[in-house]
Amino acid sequence: MSALPVERVRVAVVGGGPAGLTAAAALATQGVDDVLVVEREAETGGIPRHSDHPGYGLRDLRRFVSGPTYARRLTATARDAGVRLETGAMVTGWAGGRATTRRLEVTSPAGRRVVEAEAVVLATGARERPRPARLIPGDRPDGVWTTGQLQNLVHLHHAPVGSRAVVVGAELVSWSAVMTLREAGCATVAMTTTYDRPDAYAAFHLPGRALLKGPVLTGTRVVAIEGRGRVTGVVVETLATGERRTIPCDTVVTTGDWIPDHELARLGGVELDAGTRGPLVDASLRTSAAGVFAAGNLLHPVDTADGAALDGRHVAGRVAAWLDGPPTALPVPRAGGVRVRAAAPFRWVAPQLVAPDGGVAPRGDLLLWVDEHHRFPRVQAHQDGRLLARRRVAWPAAPGRVFRAPWSLVAGADPAGGDVTVSLG
Ligand SMILES: Cc1cc2nc3c(=O)[nH]c(=O)nc-3n(C[C@H](O)[C@H](O)[C@H](O)COP(=O)(O)OP(=O)(O)OC[C@H]3O[C@@H](n4cnc5c(N)ncnc54)[C@H](O)[C@@H]3O)c2cc1C
Repeated sequence: MSALPVERVRVAVVGGGPAGLTAAAALATQGVDDVLVVEREAETGGIPRHSDHPGYGLRDLRRFVSGPTYARRLTATARDAGVRLETGAMVTGWAGGRATTRRLEVTSPAGRRVVEAEAVVLATGARERPRPARLIPGDRPDGVWTTGQLQNLVHLHHAPVGSRAVVVGAELVSWSAVMTLREAGCATVAMTTTYDRPDAYAAFHLPGRALLKGPVLTGTRVVAIEGRGRVTGVVVETLATGERRTIPCDTVVTTGDWIPDHELARLGGVELDAGTRGPLVDASLRTSAAGVFAAGNLLHPVDTADGAALDGRHVAGRVAAWLDGPPTALPVPRAGGVRVRAAAPFRWVAPQLVAPDGGVAPRGDLLLWVDEHHRFPRVQAHQDGRLLARRRVAWPAAPGRVFRAPWSLVAGADPAGGDVTVSLG
């Protein structure tokens, strides 16, 4: 096989969603020239591009806009700052097999080439797990989609969906599915959640309910999907009693249940965290591969878009420091540092490492995912049996959305000590 052509850039950003675009724009604004964003879709913008409802931009742009408007703004800002946006091109691997080479294999209609970068930012996002991965038994008919697939169909391809839908899940993204179904002329006749109450913000319940043509079935799970060519119904079971009933419908949207798009990171031998299943990072969003950073929902599946964008802004400063060298930015966790771990009912925590050279996580937040509702939780951090810090927070912890606690809980960890455990106190 003949050698692939090689292109050299200062920074290569993989993924042109809110995290990647914002990181690239901030780098260019800080005077880093030659920043390339590689995006596999025909346009940059990431998920917001086809999430056509308001709800984007509050914390980064200080505006409340629709997904497509937000995607266009971030794209324009990056382009105006001098970033090169390459669309329809996918990073398909690492030349040499290891991420530490910082040599990306890029495949596009023009062919394959190697992009060699001084620093790489992985911003490949997260996706909802499709039905097969959720082990829902029953028939395999048409008409079963994730929210992302549904929004692609409706907003990008203007394809018809059905007339009666059941939405599996009752978190923020589930309401996004309900809005899209409504726009496509499809009534949501039921939402189901295994939890004992819906997981979206309380403020959302009343306006949200107005969009529904049926109940939110709490404490239930879907045990079967029925239908030969097309869905004809779902069977739901009440967890407390085991009672089952069939809800007739022609469309099922499985929402939430996120997994990071981590294949590229994994392929390059980047260390992954068992909780998030994204790269293990410190507060500077450094991964275990020197000069390879990560940002956005790849690290915390799944936060809002402004959170991902602010990760991008944060990581840009750390990447610029790495480019300026000397390379103090040793890869984590080989350079030492203390591991942060989540105790139940927390499922995961990010970032997962307090590095010896310190640093504060993006927005000063420790991000957690929780499996139970807690109204005003008290969060604590212990190291080697010693209480490091304990804080009561003034906002609830709820399944289905990221819970923010102060990074200061773990910042004082003894660099020579053992793991830090974050729990509810
Ligand atoms: C249905 C739905 C509704 C939502 N509603 C809201 C809302 O109202 N408000 C809000 O703030 N947030 C909302 N969110 C969350 C928001 O969309 C995400 O937080 C945000 O998009 C995360 O940004 P990101 O850059 O991390 O990832 P993404 O937006 O997922 O972008 C990642 C990009 O990387 C690209 N990519 C991946 N792998 C490769 C590769 N190997 N090579 C090249 N490119 C690659 C992808 O094509 C994609 O464009 C919603 C999410 C969903 C699914």
